[in-house]
Amino acid sequence: MAIRVLLVLLMSSSVAFAQSAGDSIPHSNKTLSVIWQQQSAEYRALCYQAFNMARWKLEKMKIRKRHKYAIITDIDETVLDNSYYEADNIRQGTEFAKDSWKRWTDKSKATPVPGALEFLQYAKSRGIYIYYISNRDTTEVNSTVANLRAYQFPDADREHMIFMARTSSKEERRLSVAKTHRVVMLLGDNLNDFTQLFEKKPNDERMAEADKVKGEWGAKFIVLPNATYGEWENAAYDYQRNLTPAQKNEKLIGKLKGSE
Ligand SMILES: [Mg+2]
Repeated sequence: MAIRVLLVLLMSSSVAFAQSAGDSIPHSNKTLSVIWQQQSAEYRALCYQAFNMARWKLEKMKIRKRHKYAIITDIDETVLDNSYYEADNIRQGTEFAKDSWKRWTDKSKATPVPGALEFLQYAKSRGIYIYYISNRDTTEVNSTVANLRAYQFPDADREHMIFMARTSSKEERRLSVAKTHRVVMLLGDNLNDFTQLFEKKPNDERMAEADKVKGEWGAKFIVLPNATYGEWENAAYDYQRNLTPAQKNEKLIGKLKGSE
């Protein structure tokens, strides 16, 4: 009798195992990076490190009353954490799509990247204007302002949101801020947030460009970690859109550098 009960228990647990989430949800290349963003103290420490460097830099900077100064910052994965949207996609077996992204940003539920709020509030206290140059769509301005205001981010108003109207390149938008302000610092998780030198290039060329301006990182250019997505990911897929998960995997495996 006891053996029979044990057998039934073993069988039912193996059935439960076969139907666990790990089996029923398709594998995603993003699972580990989203877990890293949400659960590793290392990610958190890197964010604090970035904003500490930014603050030390500003503390040493002379701010003169006769000039207008600005910091240009990206939003997603620079000051707001959207890993929840990525987590939903993994669980649902879906990928980034404009409509699901819009539904997410409409909720205004992204949370501050560690250290971002304190740093931008400090910059504002020094009289520096904050411009949010983002490739969020212009239809997302109101929900973004609401999201930023809920946490008391400085300059969280329509005037300081410069979203994507025509092109994903941010160069023109950066120049428009530089016309009226001295841009003292740029913050981003994607190197396209800093200069146009990294746009639409293969990853080896992007790395060479990063080397050319190596003195700027942690100085005028403050980089936040994002292992989940970015131009580097597009470059890894050779900027090909609409690849199937299998095709994407093939590209990634082909690009691994092994020992032979
Ligand atoms: Mg970003």
